[in-house]
Amino acid sequence: MRIDTLLAQGGNGKDTGTGAVSFPIYQTATFQHPALGESTGFDYSRSGNPTRQVLEEQIARLEGGRRGLAFASGLAALTAVLSLFRPGDHLILCEDLYGGTYRLLEQVFRPWGVEADFVDTSDLEQVNAAVRDCTKAILIETPTNPTMKITDLQAIRRICDCHDLLLIVDNTFMSPYLQRPIELGAHIVVHSGTKYLGGHNDVVAGLVVAADEDLGERLAFYQNAAGAILGPFDSWLLLRGMKTLGLRLDRAQENASAIACWLEQHPAVEQVYFIGLDNHPGRDIHFQQAAGPGAMISFSLHDAGNIPQVLSRIRLIAFAESLGGVESLLTFPSRQTHGDIPEEIRRRCGVTDRLLRLSVGIENISDLLNDLTQALAS
Ligand SMILES: *Cc1c(COP(=O)(O)O)cnc(C)c1O
Repeated sequence: MRIDTLLAQGGNGKDTGTGAVSFPIYQTATFQHPALGESTGFDYSRSGNPTRQVLEEQIARLEGGRRGLAFASGLAALTAVLSLFRPGDHLILCEDLYGGTYRLLEQVFRPWGVEADFVDTSDLEQVNAAVRDCTKAILIETPTNPTMKITDLQAIRRICDCHDLLLIVDNTFMSPYLQRPIELGAHIVVHSGTKYLGGHNDVVAGLVVAADEDLGERLAFYQNAAGAILGPFDSWLLLRGMKTLGLRLDRAQENASAIACWLEQHPAVEQVYFIGLDNHPGRDIHFQQAAGPGAMISFSLHDAGNIPQVLSRIRLIAFAESLGGVESLLTFPSRQTHGDIPEEIRRRCGVTDRLLRLSVGIENISDLLNDLTQALAS
């Protein structure tokens, strides 16, 4: 089956007892045992819940992995993945990654003894140079956030094979509709389900998909032992949101392409970062590993002094932190999503005080362009 069919049919046919087309919300903490030593397959909802299980099977199928796991947030999902490592282990990550992932590594895992280097993973030489004897994994976002740098996942997998490293990919920006990292060699895929998968800015959630059973078992042990699971209602919201992922992304990408071309011509705009533009570096590699440019655009203004004006004038587009929903959102990365990254690294990655990030939604393109026109007018 093609991915748009898999998406639309998510959960259908799974509640065989009732035939419910929309898989029900099993809002229960615990399950009655039929007899001593017997179980319905569910005992307690931290260890397993039917609604969460349908979601977990669905994301595993969409990403082409063996085991899916749902967590209370994207960062809870990343925490579970990082729990595979021990004090003394070393990781390599892309440098302009989600600020919360940087904070988690630097302020939670580093004090515990896991070290990390942040390098430009679009440059394979930098990645090779960062490998140490104690390196255990490479964690990539491609495209990166917010400057849309592209990393060649198959080339990174070859480096991983030389040194026996795990390849972990945060696929939040693309979603499995556009990019399936496990097919390109990733051992683990992570998502903030809060973004495109949920798609409606109404749920915070995280997902992990393991390519093989062994990793899946280790992560499932951690999920139950540490307990940051996704609840039944939030699992259902995510399942429902994912049904329309393809349609939403098709429309959002179309809008984003039109907005990126428009921004490129605007006199107040210095630079536009959008993978769909002909001059985008890494574009060729991206389109070998993904089916579309996505719907995220970053752009810098010539004058940092205009940022407050733009943020206060936008009306339809909301000034808010997040991305991937049906509603368009404008973010100021250096002060919001990437505020915890040191200024030196931010500057090196182009996350300046002139950079804005636009998550393009599914509104009518004329209304979006009208809002940007009045917000950017001098
Ligand atoms: C939002 C985001 C996260 C964190 O997810 P939460 O659901 O907010 O915890 C991780 N990675 C990326 C790329 C994100 O955009």
